Amino acid sequence: MRFVHDILPQRVRFASGAAAESLAAEIALLGSERVMVIAGPAEKDLAERITAGLPVAVRHDDVAMHVPVEVAERARAVAASHEADALVSIGGGSTTGLAKAVALSTGLPIVAVPTTYAGSEATPVWGLTEGAVKTTGTDPRVLPRTIVYDAALTLSLPVELSVASGLNALAHCVDSLWAPRTDPLNQALAVEGARALHAGLPQVVAQPDALEGREQALYGAYLAAAAFASAGSGLHHKICHVLGGMFSLPHAQTHAVVLPHVLAFNAPFVPEAERRLAVALDAPTAREGLARLRDRLHAPRSLRDLGMPRDGIVKAAEAVVAAAPAGNPRPVAPQAVTALIESAWEGADPR
Ligand code: NAD
Repeated sequence: MRFVHDILPQRVRFASGAAAESLAAEIALLGSERVMVIAGPAEKDLAERITAGLPVAVRHDDVAMHVPVEVAERARAVAASHEADALVSIGGGSTTGLAKAVALSTGLPIVAVPTTYAGSEATPVWGLTEGAVKTTGTDPRVLPRTIVYDAALTLSLPVELSVASGLNALAHCVDSLWAPRTDPLNQALAVEGARALHAGLPQVVAQPDALEGREQALYGAYLAAAAFASAGSGLHHKICHVLGGMFSLPHAQTHAVVLPHVLAFNAPFVPEAERRLAVALDAPTAREGLARLRDRLHAPRSLRDLGMPRDGIVKAAEAVVAAAPAGNPRPVAPQAVTALIESAWEGADPR
């Protein structure tokens, strides 16, 4: 065995119902006196509740999907004019992404309080959108210093969104098994993440108001993101990035639809990863396990339903072939990728 693995410097606080307490402890440790709280309008009440005891200098709710450059500029100006010395982000990947954009230019520390399973809080990856073009990059300054996980904050996440977001997290696990920097450590995180998501998500669907399934899902989402941050973007993420950018498809739902098709594409070429994933998903094969899980979750099925035009398939396949990671276990040939996207577009059963 031979590998090099970076461990990211970050604290994880996991305690359901304790976000206010956890935040107070973290802000005290940072010695911050002028906190900028970033939370979108939908998370405003929840954010006020858990930050009531903090030294808040300003509350900022101007959040938008995929962090448009002008939204980032406005947030940076607010941070500067209020002399913020720390950022607290409360929300999904879009909100965490905005805090990262501010940290990227200011170096301010972030304490992230995630309310979906997107996982941006555990990565040093930032994203900014200018016009229709999304640029991403990696910078240690945008990695939140601390993540405050409180599963009680996810109780309000609608079931449909919980399922899509949870499958987005599962995609981080699956893609990590063959991504460019995959190694035994991030594979261990990925497999345990898949096990926890497989245990938690059906409980979220069956009992959305119960904490137990939400805790498993959130724990799995962290492991998934930590694995992904370490292993990098594999074929699945490249495909979703192309499709999302080209046709403005919703992030989590696109991942949820595409995942079984990429698994079916790569699985025969990675027998050991397939075997471990099958165990995590409690099925004879990983493909069968994912199919059964998706059935139980009533997962979104087709790119057509998400609004992708059929005549975009060939153009998307060309872009995927150009962006595909060189080390993908199966050669990424144009015809095979076209067939993959076609079957995801139709919502065909990849079993
Ligand atoms: P999102 O942040 O846009 O949230 C989706 C919706 O869910 C919003 O309407 C939000 O108001 C609502 N919501 C969030 N939490 C809620 C709660 N607890 N209760 C009720 N409603 C709630 O979507 P997302 O899927 O969390 O994040 C997607 C974004 O994150 C994309 O832009 C993606 O590129 C980015 N992302 C980045 C990384 C990274 O490493 N940089 C990783 C994953 C995702």
